[in-house]
Amino acid sequence: MTDSSHCPWCPTQPDTPEHLLLHCPRHHSHRMALLHSLSAIHPHRPTLTDLLGGCTNTTQAFKTLNFTRTFLQKTNQLHRI
Ligand SMILES: [Zn+2]
Repeated sequence: MTDSSHCPWCPTQPDTPEHLLLHCPRHHSHRMALLHSLSAIHPHRPTLTDLLGGCTNTTQAFKTLNFTRTFLQKTNQLHRI
């Protein structure tokens, strides 16, 4: 947690929201749960923008953001933001 430029679990990967939310193997199981929760809202795989509440539909964006928040809580990331 001391090196903020790289993922704490993937030394070769940048520590970015995209890596954390979409790619980091460390959080695979939580990501599967997140995508499952979002499947009703996003029939297709949500994009990073979707996950960060960027949907055009604000109700949809709000619901998505809440699920993303749950993911971040489970992966214990909120203290890093
Ligand atoms: Zn990683």
